[in-house]
Amino acid sequence: MNIILLGPPGAGKGTQAKRLEQERGMVQLSTGDMLRAAVKAGTPTGIQAKAVMDAGELVSDAIVSGIIGERLDMEDTLKGAIFDGYPRTAAQAESLDTLLSERGRQLDFVIELEVNEDALVERVEGRFTCANCGEGYHDKFKLPKVEGTCDVCGHHEFKRRPDDNAETVRTRMAEYRAKTAPILPFYEAKGLVRKVDGMADIAEVGAQIDAILDGKA
Ligand SMILES: [Zn+2]
Repeated sequence: MNIILLGPPGAGKGTQAKRLEQERGMVQLSTGDMLRAAVKAGTPTGIQAKAVMDAGELVSDAIVSGIIGERLDMEDTLKGAIFDGYPRTAAQAESLDTLLSERGRQLDFVIELEVNEDALVERVEGRFTCANCGEGYHDKFKLPKVEGTCDVCGHHEFKRRPDDNAETVRTRMAEYRAKTAPILPFYEAKGLVRKVDGMADIAEVGAQIDAILDGKA
């Protein structure tokens, strides 16, 4: 089972990818990680990539394809790959099809975690964590039982991340739409796109993804 997992920051994509790795033995493949690993391991394509990057140039699609191909030849990908951040263009999507079919595999689904932007803003803006133990809270959805006191450790200081604000969320959503716009139509035409409610709680999102992977949705 090979999938592409799409979702804007805040939709829980990382959490779901990690769960699929643990429960199904799939591996999450992000181009950045694969590139760094290939350079470090000195694979044939890694050596090419390093030369290009050392010259201050962008790594070409051909090199990225080479790196993905090398990664797909490693045994740990046989139970399934979760592509993250790749492909970004229709041309890359075509290359991915080729890379998989050359290995007797195929892309099974493109799963998109859908979010409601306004609801996402509300969710992100309200969150804060205990400065001591990291327990997560929210102004609207999960306040400490005793005001100003962490439920878990009893600490009284909390912190908020500076980028948890409406503007950052809306900018990231716009970036996300720009990134996925080129590839969604490609996969929609192939009938591979499945939408999951990324605003549901983590267990429900997981259940929806499992239903798709198990052919029940
Ligand atoms: Zn705490």
